[in-house]
Amino acid sequence: MTPTEIATNISEVTARIRAAEDAAGRPAGAVSLLAVSKTKPPALIRLAYAQGLTAFGENYAQEMAEKARAVADLNISWHFIGPIQSNKTAVIAEICDWVHSVDRLKIAQRLSQQRPSDREPLNLLLQINISGEDTKAGVSPAAAPALIDQIAALPNLIVRGLMAIPAPASTRTDPQAPFRALRLLQEQLAVSHPNLDTLSMGMSADLEAAIAEGATLVRVGTDIFGARYN
Ligand SMILES: *Cc1c(COP(=O)(O)O)cnc(C)c1O
Repeated sequence: MTPTEIATNISEVTARIRAAEDAAGRPAGAVSLLAVSKTKPPALIRLAYAQGLTAFGENYAQEMAEKARAVADLNISWHFIGPIQSNKTAVIAEICDWVHSVDRLKIAQRLSQQRPSDREPLNLLLQINISGEDTKAGVSPAAAPALIDQIAALPNLIVRGLMAIPAPASTRTDPQAPFRALRLLQEQLAVSHPNLDTLSMGMSADLEAAIAEGATLVRVGTDIFGARYN
């Protein structure tokens, strides 16, 4: 990836987001872009940052910690988007502004305890297994109301919304269906949690469908940084 390629990719993704906002009758800027930098080196993060991106997503805690050190001179907001093991919560609580992949009370409790007292509360999203896949991470929609009640009571955290990784777009008859389901679940939960304002849904292949259903944040890796080979 050359600096020119990164710049072109970012302007194309940004234009797609803008067009999708428009098509959905949503204002410019309604949807923010999370650059998913997993497997990509700090040099590419620097190039994307130079193009104005400031939020980066990683799915391995150790890898995120190494990159955060390598670009500590930049004012980056780190988002954790991968499965969370108990022994990795401390590093996540120290580095991140957002965690998208919380699906168990125990993990939220550890993040709450380990959030440094000099930091703002950690922004949390509950990951929902919206396509009901056996192998996928995420709490079931049916179990989400009880889990959000428990997590919302913890200190040092703010529950901001929901995240999902639906089954691949190519396998869906209605490409928007899982995103609609996530939005409807958020609306249901918002009756007792009125502060929910974030829907993290949509990736390189399906960000338009997600924005049509109300995504406020799309997570894009491939279409910014190129394919991943590992
Ligand atoms: C890798 C990843 C993405 C980015 O996917 P692309 O198809 O490369 O845009 C988004 N969300 C999560 C949770 C991921 O792990």
